[in-house]
Amino acid sequence: MCACHIKMSHKHAVYILYGIIIAVIAAIFAGGIWGEKVLIISWIGTLFLNALKMMIIPLVIAAVITGIASLGDVRRLGRTGGGTLLFYTSTTALAVLTGMIVVNIIAPGSGLEFTAPELTERITEKKDIGASDIVLMLISPNLIASAAETQLLPIIFFAILFGAAVSTLGAKGRPVLDLFNGINEAMMMLVTWVMYFAPFGIFALVATRLGQAGGGEAFWAEIQAVGLYVVTVITGLAIHFMVLFFLLMVLARRGVGYLLSMMRALLTAFGTASSSATLPLTMECAREAGVSDRSVRFVLPLGSTVNMDGTALYEAVAAMFIAQAYGIDLSMGQQAVIFVTATLAAVGAAGIPEAGLITMVIVLRSVGLPMEGIGLLLAVDWFLDRFRTTINVWGDSVGAAVMHRYIHEDDHGDDWNERQDIT
Ligand code: ASP
Repeated sequence: MCACHIKMSHKHAVYILYGIIIAVIAAIFAGGIWGEKVLIISWIGTLFLNALKMMIIPLVIAAVITGIASLGDVRRLGRTGGGTLLFYTSTTALAVLTGMIVVNIIAPGSGLEFTAPELTERITEKKDIGASDIVLMLISPNLIASAAETQLLPIIFFAILFGAAVSTLGAKGRPVLDLFNGINEAMMMLVTWVMYFAPFGIFALVATRLGQAGGGEAFWAEIQAVGLYVVTVITGLAIHFMVLFFLLMVLARRGVGYLLSMMRALLTAFGTASSSATLPLTMECAREAGVSDRSVRFVLPLGSTVNMDGTALYEAVAAMFIAQAYGIDLSMGQQAVIFVTATLAAVGAAGIPEAGLITMVIVLRSVGLPMEGIGLLLAVDWFLDRFRTTINVWGDSVGAAVMHRYIHEDDHGDDWNERQDIT
């Protein structure tokens, strides 16, 4: 066991958090007031995003391989994997349920008389995804190509198999695990460095996105056009945030302290609108919050691609909104179909900006809603994407804390705050 873990000092973590909060607020003013003029600093946001993306593949591969190998035998893998999937599936289902209830109560689309707007290229270009494609996504015929496109699911699946295989090799496997363990530590070190840059990066990302939308006034007009829809999505997400917080308290026995520790990751999710890009920070924050490496290395990478509570809720609300706006009455059976497909669509969505908009095709098609409906949501999607991505990352973070406790109990007496190393 080695004690070579890198941890950012608490003082620095707090400064960075303040920095990010100020950055988000300042960015809203800057983007709102100066509009397109702020695009001049867009390169700073790109720089930050690229730095995050640069770390994803090596970090995920090293973290998952060592995380799996540290679980020990295959039975433990089964329990941890099963527990994680159970938690993720049930919270996603809860999120969709919340969305369905809120959208039925507020009914943001009823009374709107939309004639089918033109589909923009952005949607028609994307190919349709079916449920079987989600299963096919698990195995990549070409890992390098998947890595190049940041498709995390096949990479994670491979790393799980590889980690399990190496752990059966005994002494022969040890140097391999040592190597990946070292890579993991080095990557986490890089993450702490990049985190210092987060306030500047997030400022640039939020300000330029608002600027692109034409600044405060133009954006406000867009929001008002579908105002009630925006309110519905944000209300649903806020309720689910609380539900997750409740689960965190009951199942993981953690509370506000944990939320504060995860805050830098949550605000980065808001800034980047990408749970994959945020993943390195999510892992680092969870580690700093005392979540064991086993949980961080397995539960979070998996969560960042398959567990998207915010996206699932959003897909359900959006589909119902489209039905309401077109005056289509959906039976309970059809709503149940939306429930299932919204969950699947969220699993299939990549952790990148506005991916949920694309997988929504699955939901709309399942009950025969007009595809053109997606056009109604385009103008405000980038904005809502930030909120749902934040909830996606919050869902993963709560999952990691819950599984931490669960894995710990499985260990019968290991010090649960002590970091577990495979060496
Ligand atoms: N942007 C979301 C994420 O990265 C996915 C989506 O809902 O579009 O988690």
